[in-house]
Amino acid sequence: MSSTTSTRQEVENDHWHAMPVTDVVDSLGSDPEQGLSDHEVHQRRDQFGENRLTPQASRTALRRLLDQANNLFIYLLLAAAVVTFLIGERLDSSVILAVVVIIVLIGYIQEGRAERALDAVQGMLPTSAVVIRGGSRQETSAEQLVPGDVVIVNAGDRIPADLRLIRSRNLNIEEAALTGESVPVEKAPDPVDESNEVGDRASMAFSGTLATAGQGVGIVVSIGDRTQIGRISRMLTEIEQIQTPLARRLDIFTKWLSIVIISLAVVTFFVGVLVWGEDSGEMFLAAVSIAVAAIPEGLPAVMTVTLAIGVERMARRKAIIRRMAAVETLGSITIICSDKTGTLTRNEMTATVIRTPDLEISVEGVGYEPVGDFLIDETNCDIADYPAAHEMIRAGLLCNDATLGIEDGKWTPQGDPTEAALLVLGKKAELEREQVDNDYPRLDAIPFSSERRYMATLHRNQQGQHVVYAKGAPERLLEMCSSEQHGDDVRSLDRDLWRDRVTEIAGRGQRLLAIARKDVDADTNELRDEDVESDLVLLGMFGLIDPPRDEAIRSVEACLGAGIKVKMATGDHAATAKAIARDLGIANTDDVVIGRDVETMSDEELQQSALSVDVFARVSPEHKLRLVQAFQAGHAVTAMTGDGVNDAPALKRADVGIAMGMKGTEAAREASDMVLADDNFATIERAIAQGRSVYDNLQKAILFMLPTNAAQTAVIVTAVAFGAVLPVTPVQILWINMVTAVTLGITFAWERAEGDVMKRPPRRTDEPLLTPFMLWRIGFVGLLLLLGTRYLFGVEQGNDATTLEFARTVAVNALVMGQIFYLISVRFFTRPSYTWSGLTGSPAVLIAIAICVALQLLLTYAPFMQVLFGTQSLDASAWAGCIAVGFAIF
Ligand code: ADP
Ligand code: MG
Repeated sequence: MSSTTSTRQEVENDHWHAMPVTDVVDSLGSDPEQGLSDHEVHQRRDQFGENRLTPQASRTALRRLLDQANNLFIYLLLAAAVVTFLIGERLDSSVILAVVVIIVLIGYIQEGRAERALDAVQGMLPTSAVVIRGGSRQETSAEQLVPGDVVIVNAGDRIPADLRLIRSRNLNIEEAALTGESVPVEKAPDPVDESNEVGDRASMAFSGTLATAGQGVGIVVSIGDRTQIGRISRMLTEIEQIQTPLARRLDIFTKWLSIVIISLAVVTFFVGVLVWGEDSGEMFLAAVSIAVAAIPEGLPAVMTVTLAIGVERMARRKAIIRRMAAVETLGSITIICSDKTGTLTRNEMTATVIRTPDLEISVEGVGYEPVGDFLIDETNCDIADYPAAHEMIRAGLLCNDATLGIEDGKWTPQGDPTEAALLVLGKKAELEREQVDNDYPRLDAIPFSSERRYMATLHRNQQGQHVVYAKGAPERLLEMCSSEQHGDDVRSLDRDLWRDRVTEIAGRGQRLLAIARKDVDADTNELRDEDVESDLVLLGMFGLIDPPRDEAIRSVEACLGAGIKVKMATGDHAATAKAIARDLGIANTDDVVIGRDVETMSDEELQQSALSVDVFARVSPEHKLRLVQAFQAGHAVTAMTGDGVNDAPALKRADVGIAMGMKGTEAAREASDMVLADDNFATIERAIAQGRSVYDNLQKAILFMLPTNAAQTAVIVTAVAFGAVLPVTPVQILWINMVTAVTLGITFAWERAEGDVMKRPPRRTDEPLLTPFMLWRIGFVGLLLLLGTRYLFGVEQGNDATTLEFARTVAVNALVMGQIFYLISVRFFTRPSYTWSGLTGSPAVLIAIAICVALQLLLTYAPFMQVLFGTQSLDASAWAGCIAVGFAIF
């Protein structure tokens, strides 16, 4: 039997959880230290395919179609079709039915488009995995994993395939995606009973579940559809509802409008029949006309298109929307609470200060290129002459998980930039990482986390003694140290002196990192928190610079100008945070609230200071959640950034939770509403501008469509009230509504932001859908349309030479012309549009108008349209009248 077929059989077994680690490794032909070779990876990929789930449609096409039809307006239209059918108007009835079909189809297609837009941008965020292949750690996309791959799992990771664990440290995994159980379970490599159900297989990490704490290493045993999640074939993430706050308000508006429409139609019917003694069939038709006139048939389609285009535009600018509602909410953000490191700053760390217990040494050079001299009191020195500094630098190389390499001729770090800076420092001091690693092999490690605020590693030196190195935030390490190193001497620690030094260096805007050592017994082979957290010997501190991003400075200014408060929450020291905040132009840099205060303050106190203070230092993720709650208690619409697994609650709670695409964990991304593909603060500001303009456009579209509905309804109601013939028939009204919506109304989706979007204050969330100004405008424009149409219709009616059909055709064209001219004037809320650019500004508008005119000509002159819609060819003077109505509106 060849080895590949045996691997295949093994891969399909289902008792990995019960096998000892060594058997697992053997039967998968892998190696826990070296991983697979590249050659093997290729071969296995050919054999097993990519690690991907076969996508499942979330709703069937029919279901989606029916969902579209499940709408009050559609029911009203269907009722109208039935009524017209019953009174014998077969032609009208079929036109109404046809329109219903068209609306549902357009809605269906547009919703599909919006969903695809969301899907497509999410495809821009591939899940990655860290694997060991050919003996080295590398990052790869989860789809590229093959059985036998050795995968490293960290807190915050989504497990990329079914793994049999071979090592773990406090690894906790939340398996809700698989078992529905949301409490994380502790995992460990020991085999478990063969009969255990999926939820009790503690030696396995299943694809699609989420690591919430700790670390682990596992071997891939199944991928793609053969994983547990693939077998129960459930999508990992459900597609979100394409519903936004505005859409919900529109739903309510729809209900009210429907009630008004039905009452109007009923009243009209009875007034006609009882007061005017009209034929009841005629009055049924009038009632139907009112219903179709008042319903803005095209509005839902215009809304979805506008939102979908907003999503696409934001994605092009690196803001990846995960929930449609965020597009709109972004427009009303009043507070952005942003991470500092990497978002407001460049996250290009350079160690510039080495502070030993006796000396301060400065280091020249910026960025990751390892060139730069060491200076004491501004004069060059040879770092090798200073053993204390030398030991600090060496410790910085050992207590380090980053790597530094040359890519495209540029020094490029991988891993934590704070640690990469220490690698650069090592190279400047001519200490080679490989050499140091060989001299002091690492036995164990506790990685850095924002809660723990330190990292520690255990090593064996050349004399066979075991030593721990720890580095971390100065306050944290000062708590853990009891002494400090002076040459060969160990003296008791002068905490106050060190605190003064820390404040002084941090005041220059530097990020501080303390480093310490502890000798332990030679039989200590594993690190436990309690071994590390006392009796350390402080070696010294590093000062690191991380300059603000230039574009962040501009964006902060733009946000302040737009009435948005920018606040900074960072794990760094208060003095560092303050100095950087000042460089960034953040408004209030006098006061800083530190994480500890956030814990002890009462809700009221916190709410007060959270709103007035702009800089929050030494905060950890649970403080962020309290901060969001405090902002929101003060009625702020809050955007909050985050990247770690523990940031998820704060991101979920925020009105717009923003995750980092590059350095963020999968857990943070999934909790977020938006992901920054470039981790850059400036992207948030641009997305807000875009969000504001999307809302403007939606509002403009509504403002554009409603006057026509108002005018048409009024035309019918007045006609009935005065016992006159209807100036437009129901099918003509439908025609007008559809044509103006899909040609003219849709252009708002492409409308560019007005120049002042970021110069006005944020929109209030409690602002009504239609402001009094908008209502006035709808009423006024509606009235003009009504008067113009009535007037022209009256004139043609009074003219004995023309027929009723002719007069109605004039009325229809007058209404549409009015809309065309109104479109041009409504495109700007504030600026006048009778400038050249106002008229020709957008090609979309010109194209839409051209199509609209062509359709009107078709309606007026094409013989089959004349039959369907009861129209008649017009002469030049009739057109002149229609255009005059348009001008009057403009
Ligand atoms: P932020 O990313 O908001 O600036 P962090 O929580 O990452 O804050 O870091 C807080 C502090 O922890 C830093 O000021 C630094 O002193 C320390 N620190 C940061 N990264 C590391 C690391 N990789 N190892 C040890 N300590 C670190
Ligand atoms: Mg950090």
